[in-house]
Amino acid sequence: MKNIFSIIVVFLILSSCGAQNTTTEINKKTSDLESNGRPKLVVGIVVDQMRYDYLTRFASQYGDGGFNRMIDEGFNCKNNHFNYVPTYTGPGHASVYTGTTPKNHGIIGNNWYDKEIKEMVYCASDADVNSVGTEDKAGKMSPHRLQTTTFADENRLFTQGQGKTIGIALKDRGAILPAGHTANAAYWFHGKDQGRWISSSHYMEELPKWVLDFNTSTQAESYLKEWNTYYDISTYIESGVDENTFEGGFKGKDKATFPYDLKALSKDNRGYDILKATPYGNSLTTDFALAAIKAENLGQDQITDILAVSYSATDYVGHNFGVNSKEIEDTYIRLDKDLERLFQYLDTTVGKGEYTVFLTADHGAVDVPSYLHSLKVPAGYVDNKDRKAMFNAFLNATYGTDSIVENISNDQVFINRDKVKELGLKLSDVQETIAMEQLSYLNVAKVYTATTMSTTSFYEGIEALLQNGFNQKRSGDVLLVNDTSFISYGKTGSTHGSGLNYDTHVPLLFFGKGIKHGETYDKTVIPDIAATMSALLGISFPNGATGQPLGFVID
Ligand SMILES: [Zn+2]
Repeated sequence: MKNIFSIIVVFLILSSCGAQNTTTEINKKTSDLESNGRPKLVVGIVVDQMRYDYLTRFASQYGDGGFNRMIDEGFNCKNNHFNYVPTYTGPGHASVYTGTTPKNHGIIGNNWYDKEIKEMVYCASDADVNSVGTEDKAGKMSPHRLQTTTFADENRLFTQGQGKTIGIALKDRGAILPAGHTANAAYWFHGKDQGRWISSSHYMEELPKWVLDFNTSTQAESYLKEWNTYYDISTYIESGVDENTFEGGFKGKDKATFPYDLKALSKDNRGYDILKATPYGNSLTTDFALAAIKAENLGQDQITDILAVSYSATDYVGHNFGVNSKEIEDTYIRLDKDLERLFQYLDTTVGKGEYTVFLTADHGAVDVPSYLHSLKVPAGYVDNKDRKAMFNAFLNATYGTDSIVENISNDQVFINRDKVKELGLKLSDVQETIAMEQLSYLNVAKVYTATTMSTTSFYEGIEALLQNGFNQKRSGDVLLVNDTSFISYGKTGSTHGSGLNYDTHVPLLFFGKGIKHGETYDKTVIPDIAATMSALLGISFPNGATGQPLGFVID
């Protein structure tokens, strides 16, 4: 009896030890997945069309809680560049979050000519999904053309879907491409007469209650008010005079000068869409981001969530008024206040030092060429009509038909492969002939063929940038580079897309948990961002990432 009893006691002790061990192991595993020094929330901020010098030119107008807080507490990469062409919004957002370039992630433009279906396609459009939150097709969007993962996707995989991802921007592509394939939600703003935040069936079947509540509130409408300068306009000495010939302005107002009565002007400027081209578009984005943090409990447990916010209004203002306008200065002064509001909210809801933020841009912008020209800087406008007429005449004379070229878009020529075969020609010869012809045109500075891009490795200069933007399946047959500061655009306002410093040099700031304080002039490139965030989180790099983690920013 005694012996049997002893055996049972020993057995019980052993089995309870076993149970304890198992429990401890589970606890340990959970804690590995949870904290391990990771931030509770990562907030990625992309400011659309933010040139690096907006950080320095307007510095004295910024307060302590926005851009300057990131600089004072965090890490400032002062020589950060895009390392590919073309520098547009779709490729920009995709590259920041995938850690690679259009060569690998496949977003080669905002719109591009699809060689297979022989039609222009939009980077985020998707006929196979439905709009959520609106009746029209503004919600038929998804990241299906993005061919690699974002670091937000990798965080979803790593946390077994427990870490949330939410993308927010006025522009659909600014919300969708950063959030990636596995996001819980991406929301974008539908203007016109609706003025509401929408999504698509890629993410959900219907909008959550907090979004419906936001949409039925008067938040968007409250911004249809007067837009005047935040401070006295006489203190805006960092920008040109308010009235000049280089700005577009709004329909229904003769001069592009302050103040703007947005309520009255909204009638001739697509209703709520007018907000996109004012700093209030960014304020509305901030309001919505704060509502998302609250309702979705972002950063409220130990498993990292990711909030991708893109501020799109800065791009619309830049396109309309240009780099040197009072309007752009005011827009950045007000964005600085919105950032301060966002960071303060994160301090109170997630906790100071518990979240990590990075801020960058999706591309820069050139000074208005007509303004540069007035200052005797070589700059101007490409005459596409003239070029096209000469090119068609050349094609007819050389090949007996101009249908040998299917499409010209994003400074790329797409050749009709069937026609080349039909005429018994060699594709690389046709590419070469067309390239040389284009090079003879006014303001075409450089030309490269797809064959060259596919057979030679470039490591520096515009050739390397073109190559990083060149996707064999999607890109054109001949790549054109225009003269510096020559753009295909109207004579007012500004645009972007080139591989020159005004388009490639953008801010890169990190601050918060796990980030050192400091600054560098060492060159960093956009794909380094996703690699850095992956390293900080200890997760897999996005599957196509080519960037390197910036070890010097990580604490
Ligand atoms: Zn733009």
